[in-house]
Amino acid sequence: MIRFTGKGVYGAIAAGKISIFKRQDVQVRRVKVENPEEELARLAAAKKAALDQLSEIYQKALKEVGEANAQIFEIHMMMVEDDDYNEAIEEMINGQSVNAEYAVAVTADNFAEMFASMEDSYMQARAADVRDISNRIIACMSGCTDEKTASDEKVIICADDLAPSETVSLDKERVLAFVTAHGSSNSHTAILARNMNIPAIIGLGEAFLREIHDGDMAIADGFTGEFILSPDEETLKACRQKQQAESEKKELLQKLKGKENITLDGTKINIYANIGSADNIGAVLLNDAGGIGLFRSEFLYLENTDYPSEEDQLKVYKRVLESMAARKVIIRTLDIGADKQADYFKLEREENPALGLRAIRLCLSRPEIFRTQLKALYRASVYGNLGIMFPMITSVSELEEILALCEEVKAELKRDHIEYAENVELGIMIETPAAAIISDRLAPMVDFFSVGTNDLTQYTLACDRQNPHIERFCDTHHEAILRLIEISAKNAHKHGAWIGICGELAADTSLTETFLRMGIDELSVSPGFVLKVRDAVRSIDLSKPPTDFFLANKL
Ligand code: PEP
Ligand code: MG
Repeated sequence: MIRFTGKGVYGAIAAGKISIFKRQDVQVRRVKVENPEEELARLAAAKKAALDQLSEIYQKALKEVGEANAQIFEIHMMMVEDDDYNEAIEEMINGQSVNAEYAVAVTADNFAEMFASMEDSYMQARAADVRDISNRIIACMSGCTDEKTASDEKVIICADDLAPSETVSLDKERVLAFVTAHGSSNSHTAILARNMNIPAIIGLGEAFLREIHDGDMAIADGFTGEFILSPDEETLKACRQKQQAESEKKELLQKLKGKENITLDGTKINIYANIGSADNIGAVLLNDAGGIGLFRSEFLYLENTDYPSEEDQLKVYKRVLESMAARKVIIRTLDIGADKQADYFKLEREENPALGLRAIRLCLSRPEIFRTQLKALYRASVYGNLGIMFPMITSVSELEEILALCEEVKAELKRDHIEYAENVELGIMIETPAAAIISDRLAPMVDFFSVGTNDLTQYTLACDRQNPHIERFCDTHHEAILRLIEISAKNAHKHGAWIGICGELAADTSLTETFLRMGIDELSVSPGFVLKVRDAVRSIDLSKPPTDFFLANKL
């Protein structure tokens, strides 16, 4: 039994087998080899492993999705054994004395290009297949296999780090917990774990990676940040007891379902939920959230390999709006860039990505992408109670440009006799110090503000939210942050706008009283925190002197 300690980023506990996260995009380099025979032997072994995997996947697909859909894996098996393909690879290994991975990658490119240039659409489609089987063979040579995809067992995913795009592409049904050697608690991967109600630990360090093996038993305790490898019986028993106590606590909170978010002296607020996908709606409803305060729409883009079309987006937004019936649904427009990268955007490498072309800056620089999203949003607006929110605002002129684009999109819809709702609320995120400081100018232009404390902390305290080494300087309770929220709340109300908080700080119940006294109207938190925050609200009495240090002394 070995214990590692990191930082728990979502309080829950899981016990189960480990699955080490395998990156599929293995980097292939050209290496000169002494002995091509050895490379040919490696190639033969990898091909055999690839064929075994494909046959297993074929059998599984046959059972689950029927013969017609399973057939593609039969085609893949034939392609692995194709004579022309194999001769080309072998010729390259023998003729140029290069490593097998490189020969497979180059051959894949050549064949894919050849297929893509053919007239016949069936043959064109084979380009993707030849890349797919080649990646599989290369992965087998690099020790990256996906054999565990055949199992339905839930596992603890262990990785050095996970990018948001990798986290979203995991099969959620199979994930018991996320555990990483690196990472920071305000990263989007940590946020996703919270949204998915999955225990997560980050920052376990390099040593942890050296000790783990696929299939090892482990406990991930997201409360304490402890990761216990190969636990003994006694530790497993203690873990089960803790799980039981947790589920009892959760059950107690369930009693708050259907109750109001009201303080002891009668002040009411809204408690909404944050989501990253339409698949989180079940958790939102289960936890009795009053609405959705933040739908991070960029995950829709991250889940795809190309820009989601207007129709694709409409389908998702409609589903979320309809599922929430009359309840408010605030969809945030695309916030891509910085740590959230999708290859097809082809964003240039930046020295300081968090200060670069991200979020609204990207949308205003590529208005065609923004227009498609706005059109899908307005078209979806007839299916529920929609609010649209814009991220990373820093100036009045940006907001003017956005509002003008909204008007143009609505005018286009009207011209084409396409329906949209007139009562769509428009709001901005307050997540830069600039936005908070000029909130008196911004408030008259919108219906609401929502404070993004994750970025507001990053930009106010000059602390990269992705950097685990400076977490102790990223004090989310810093007086500067609280003052900026306070200023924004005052200005919002002065101009008839409402204000919520949708950053992770909204779920920090040690600040709930502070937020209520500032006049915050809405708190939007991960679905699993809704009832915990309701519980906190219901125990506060605003008619009594403040118990909060900041409010008692600073304001
Ligand atoms: C925030 O910055 O607080 C926020 C809610 O947005 P995100 O975490 O997606 O950047
Ligand atoms: Mg943000």
